[in-house]
Amino acid sequence: MTAVTHLFVATRNTGKQREIRGILAALPYELRFLDAANIPERPEEDLLEHADSFEGNARRKVEYFARLSGLPTMAEDSGIEVFALGGLPGVRSRRFALHDGPAAEQDAANNAELLRRLQGLAQEKRRARYRCVVAFVPRPDAAAVTFEGTCTGSILAEPKGTGGFGYDPLFFSDDLNQSFGEATAEDKAAVSHRGRAIRAFAEWLRANPI
Ligand code: IMP
Repeated sequence: MTAVTHLFVATRNTGKQREIRGILAALPYELRFLDAANIPERPEEDLLEHADSFEGNARRKVEYFARLSGLPTMAEDSGIEVFALGGLPGVRSRRFALHDGPAAEQDAANNAELLRRLQGLAQEKRRARYRCVVAFVPRPDAAAVTFEGTCTGSILAEPKGTGGFGYDPLFFSDDLNQSFGEATAEDKAAVSHRGRAIRAFAEWLRANPI
């Protein structure tokens, strides 16, 4: 009998979990998610996202959760940068509206805040980019490797579609010519920042198996 190799996926965001599961399904590893691993959320987790870059946040998360899990661990940090807002929400994407509460409520508050800030701005001035950095450590004491993915589009004046999560109904993808809220999970993954970063990670794993 061959032993199962686990890959620990350190995110509590269920939207991200769904996408990561879909993209990594082809790899010969059993994915273990944070919620199933009995690692309760502690207040210090919030501080992990206070670096000033996606890469900094992804590295902090992966180092922290690899120590807790003891397993090969991946984490990611992602968000959306709106050029007319000087790159905001950026690393503050999750807390843009400063609204605490269930994820769906937080997403709705963030989307409303983004629309408020862009009110009256012509469509060609609403350019944006999603970014995702995946960080991986094979052992808790190893240095992290990172992989980045981006995708471009523009922010619609009103939401379209109900798929995806977070800012997806407002993000009109250049690649798909539709909003990520209207896209199927497969179509989003084929062009998204997360899809691109995770596929780069998966390719690296094929050359550097755990
Ligand atoms: P964090 O990486 O957990 O700090 O949060 C990332 C935040 O960026 C999410 O809560 C969303 O608001 C936003 N975000 C990141 N990736 C996506 C995506 O694929 N679709 C929609 N929103 C996203």
